[in-house]
Amino acid sequence: MYPDERRILLTPGPVVFSIDNLRYMLSTVYEHTSIDFAEIYGRAIKKFRSIIGANGNFPVFMFSGSGTLAMEASLINILKPGSRVLVVSHGFFGDRWAEIARVNGYDVKVLYSDVGDIVDLGFIAEELSKGGYDALLVTHVETSTGVRADVRSLASIASKYNTLIFVDGVSSVAAEPLDCSRWGVDVLVTTSQKALETPPGVSIVALCTSRAVKALEANNGNVRSFYMRLSDWRKVMEAYEDGRISYHATPPTHLIVALERALTRILEEGLEARFKRHYILAKALREGIRALGLEVVAKREEIASNTVTAVYTPQGVDPIELRRRLARGNIIIALPLHPALRGKSFRIGHMGSVNHNDIVAVVALLERTLASMGVKIELGSGLRAVQQILLTENL
Ligand code: PMP
Repeated sequence: MYPDERRILLTPGPVVFSIDNLRYMLSTVYEHTSIDFAEIYGRAIKKFRSIIGANGNFPVFMFSGSGTLAMEASLINILKPGSRVLVVSHGFFGDRWAEIARVNGYDVKVLYSDVGDIVDLGFIAEELSKGGYDALLVTHVETSTGVRADVRSLASIASKYNTLIFVDGVSSVAAEPLDCSRWGVDVLVTTSQKALETPPGVSIVALCTSRAVKALEANNGNVRSFYMRLSDWRKVMEAYEDGRISYHATPPTHLIVALERALTRILEEGLEARFKRHYILAKALREGIRALGLEVVAKREEIASNTVTAVYTPQGVDPIELRRRLARGNIIIALPLHPALRGKSFRIGHMGSVNHNDIVAVVALLERTLASMGVKIELGSGLRAVQQILLTENL
């Protein structure tokens, strides 16, 4: 048995953080009122903008919290009370958008997909064409099923019907292509612990169009939350970008230092190379899984995400037992979140610092473990498919 630190963590967040990022974060203690810290923060904001393709000086907010807080903060600051929202839900986190909108008093309609599928674009356009919707809320990569929404097309449909689009990029930012301003994504939310390769604790909200900025300003700070009031945070973020100090609430100083380092490394890898790496590894994993006779939850290749793969367990295999056995073999995967997938599926996260050895290892352990559980598997069949893709794609 390997010692703990040799475990391979393949959950869809938190992901493995580079030791370099962590060392950087622990190298010193910055107080949030120092100019040195303000400069690091300012650099983190600028680098984040370039990773998501946000033009100019559109506001980016980073404060203590998780992805859920970023979702809620974005809604309550940009949408007026009583706004009508259309949620496109592909699973657990799409439903979360709807629930956050409901508890904040918005008038919510939800379009649901079948499990493993996405809602038809024509159907969404038809609903928006009825008029009266202020916002469209969607999850870029639905972590509970491993499907990816067509954000580019959704943004163009939303703009046609003069509806703001909010995108949950928690499981996609820095791993899936996303060009916020050019695509017309008004609001993007994400968090630190996924493909941004930083420990949990930073909520991130980015406004990527002038439409979104106008909507924020029209609300004029009229928000029923003190902590989440973005008009106050905006002054702090602008100060940091100018290398000055301002204060609304104490930011997560260590995490911002780690995040700035992680963003630097992401840009050093290069976005195109990074997206390609995620794409090839995800494809190799899916082919390996299919070669074992298992079914991927995402119904079609073109909607299968490059960051998380949900898989149906073979008949008679309990996912909890499978996860336990894989953990004994030092690979950690995740159990299902989607109610319709409970008891019959598992999830593998492959985002951030994931590499080809992780994919080879998880498919190898999976085939051996399933065989030991009595599933009819030809040892090596999954691995052969993985190797073939890695060889062809030259990764
Ligand atoms: N959206 C998606 C797509 C997610 O995967 C998650 C977390 N797994 C969240 C939102 C919520 O983020 P957090 O747990 O950081 O609040």
